[in-house]
Amino acid sequence: MTKNKLIERLNKGPVICAEGFLFEIERRGYMSAGEFVPMVSLEHPEALENLHRDFQHAGSDIVQAFTYNGHREKMRVIGKEDLLEPLNREALKIAKKVATSSTGKEPNLMAGNISNSNIWNNKDKSANPEVEKMFQEMVGWAVDEGADILIGETFYYAEEAYLALKVMKETGLPSVITIAPMAENIMRDGVSIIDTCKELEQLGGDVVGMNCFRGPSTMMPYLKEIRKALKCHVAALPISFRTTKEHPTFFNLPDNNGCQCHTPHKTPFPTALDPMQCNRYEIKKFAKEALELGINYLGVCCGANPMLIREVAEAVGLTVPASKYKENMANHFMYGSNKRIPQHSKDYQDKA
Ligand SMILES: [Zn+2]
Repeated sequence: MTKNKLIERLNKGPVICAEGFLFEIERRGYMSAGEFVPMVSLEHPEALENLHRDFQHAGSDIVQAFTYNGHREKMRVIGKEDLLEPLNREALKIAKKVATSSTGKEPNLMAGNISNSNIWNNKDKSANPEVEKMFQEMVGWAVDEGADILIGETFYYAEEAYLALKVMKETGLPSVITIAPMAENIMRDGVSIIDTCKELEQLGGDVVGMNCFRGPSTMMPYLKEIRKALKCHVAALPISFRTTKEHPTFFNLPDNNGCQCHTPHKTPFPTALDPMQCNRYEIKKFAKEALELGINYLGVCCGANPMLIREVAEAVGLTVPASKYKENMANHFMYGSNKRIPQHSKDYQDKA
């Protein structure tokens, strides 16, 4: 029974899930920022496979098929609707290939993925039936291609999240559902963050929580409340940027270091967030704190890279393949403690 695989593992301890492929693939040069369509599964399948392998090596237990934004609406925006099904199937096949080749104690789980449709509207509901069809077709392909679990993520309308969960549940696969409220700190249809999560648990979500848009500091306060309010497993996948109370999401985060481009713009999103990147120690602190609260489904969304995923895994007591290459300052040419480091190098530490 597939259902037990995820829940049983979560009952035993932390399960790591890398997300944030959009930013990382863009950074690696295979996607346009802003447009953000995962054509990479068709155009550079080897780059997508490498991305998954890097995250697997860093400790991700779940290989999430990269179909975020690979939905009918986005494909219409870029005029490539005919490539919708091939894109999805290829992304799922690549994820399955990587998941089944894992060499860890436990096999990786391959996850099908649906997300915010961009056309859901609580005021004019005329497009909402189309959203259900979009979810159904993607979930159908995921089942076809052998998904072990399904992940619905980055929902900022409560009702859209409920619908996504309903569609995922119809497959009988374990379902993870995470919401991403924007800076108003409430879902766009007026439901509170906590009430949305409570309802998602009632609707049968196996894992319910938050992902994306918020960094550790503006996600954590809500996670504490969610953990208290829910009995099911909780998910925590922040972005790796330093959001603040004034700017709870990355959308309006000011670029304190000053964007150097000469195009006037109000905000740097999404191409100048680099100076606000959390370091490994901040991500470690977040993961440790989340685990201590009783949150076992952990990861990083936008801004994630393999180093940060390894940090999450190690913060919660896991040793992963990439642990072999964690910091080893003892052999540093100037700051190291190794006997062979010359004294004249050590003496220079403060002046370097
Ligand atoms: Zn994200």
